[in-house]
Amino acid sequence: MPKPPDSLPASLRDVPPAELFPDVFANDSHHQGFAQGGRAAALEALAKIDPVTYGRDRSHLDGHVSRLSPYLRHGVLTLAEVRDAALTHAPDTAPSRVWKYVNELSWRDYSVRVYAEVGELIWQDFEPYKTGLHASAYTHEFPADIENGTTGAACIDAWSQELRETGYLHNHIRMWLASYVVHHRRVWWQGGASWFITHLLDGDPSSNNVGWQWVASTWRSYPYLWNRGNLVKYAGDRYCAACPLANAGCPFDATYAALSERLFENKEAAPGESGHLDPERLKAVPWEPPHTPKGVSSAVVWVHGDRLSPTNEALAAYPKGPAVFVWDDELLEEWTVSAKRQTFIHGCVQELPAHVLRGDVAAEVIRFAQAHGADTVATTPSPSPRFRAIVTALEAAGLTVQLWAEPVFGESLKPLDLRVHGDYWRQISASAFGKEPAPPKPKRPRAKKAQSAKTTAEQ
Ligand SMILES: Cc1cc2nc3c(=O)[nH]c(=O)nc-3n(C[C@H](O)[C@H](O)[C@H](O)COP(=O)(O)OP(=O)(O)OC[C@H]3O[C@@H](n4cnc5c(N)ncnc54)[C@H](O)[C@@H]3O)c2cc1C
Repeated sequence: MPKPPDSLPASLRDVPPAELFPDVFANDSHHQGFAQGGRAAALEALAKIDPVTYGRDRSHLDGHVSRLSPYLRHGVLTLAEVRDAALTHAPDTAPSRVWKYVNELSWRDYSVRVYAEVGELIWQDFEPYKTGLHASAYTHEFPADIENGTTGAACIDAWSQELRETGYLHNHIRMWLASYVVHHRRVWWQGGASWFITHLLDGDPSSNNVGWQWVASTWRSYPYLWNRGNLVKYAGDRYCAACPLANAGCPFDATYAALSERLFENKEAAPGESGHLDPERLKAVPWEPPHTPKGVSSAVVWVHGDRLSPTNEALAAYPKGPAVFVWDDELLEEWTVSAKRQTFIHGCVQELPAHVLRGDVAAEVIRFAQAHGADTVATTPSPSPRFRAIVTALEAAGLTVQLWAEPVFGESLKPLDLRVHGDYWRQISASAFGKEPAPPKPKRPRAKKAQSAKTTAEQ
């Protein structure tokens, strides 16, 4: 790493997160989450995936899920390289053995594309709730007993504790817990989504808010419900065995029809309710292959939280260029990011050949570029509106911003239809399996399912 100019503050790269964020660490006793930050730890986790068995058992709590989400969320691994690793587990003749895993990876690509298109609207109800209830029926106050794990229902309390202590929840638990928060407790999904973002090491407005909207029914045609039978099927009796409510008062011990009747007015939007997203906006989102910028002689590299890898494309383009990472104090505060998340990010940052600063990101990157006499900032793309605002500020300061994109997960021959994941997947699935992008496969007609089966369907 080149020696930093004297005009810059000393790098914070090796300052422990507890010293950087003393208030957060003093008020949060869980300093280390389930995964260690950094590319070395990510590659270790990647070497352990079992995408073939995953296809059979991923919905079970003891199933072979990969737990790679924090590395994908922070760009320590790319979707394309995880997909390539998954394909090595299947013979060339039978890539379908890892089909389910690659299909699940596509949910992340899809959510990120939706977020890139809608921006801040990701925090609004895309559509009205299909529960017969008005949005105003959902409280904005997040219940303390859910947050502290003191509801009295052993499953809910265990999941709340797991979230706080580890920063990870299995996908099925996320769905169960979100359904409890929104449908049983009538809390607006945005409150639950913020709670998750504070704690999940993979917390991200794209996948997280799409997941919450899906459960809530603000982006799905009916609300997601589960019952005790569904829990026992996928979790065994580990919760019910010790639950004080197991023999009397379990809120989940009912048929889907009875739960639906108890919790909803019906399964349609309440009269007069409308959503905030015009679906036409997602109908034909342009797909273009990423453009590769031309290298210049005086660039600095800005590494941000969506691509925290030493293999970052902007770093690769300027291996000798000075690089900077800036802790975004305002965002960390707005998201009330927990200590274990800070520790994870710090672990990633420590492996970067970058000068580390903190504060207002745009101001610090401008200062860094000026200190190095650079007129260009090379970075990697991000779907977040905040990123766009920072890029605008850099350009307003006279800097040219270059975007070096990671390898794509899937290509499309046409603009993408992002209104429904299935339609997006039909467009990109051939290339996601390493083939030439193909025209979308026609829709397969779906057998009409009974309502009870529909309510338990998973993402
Ligand atoms: C209410 C709710 C909130 C969620 N919040 C987040 C979040 O903040 N961040 C996040 O990355 N995922 C989120 N998910 C999606 C999913 O639950 C997690 O990605 C997954 O559980 C992570 O565990 P894993 O790495 O073991 O996943 P695996 O099952 O091993 O899947 C591999 C990877 O595919 C991607 N993936 C799998 N399922 C989904 C999905 N449904 N949506 C998007 N990507 C998916 C993830 O990147 C994941 O790491 C949420 C889901 C729900 C229902």
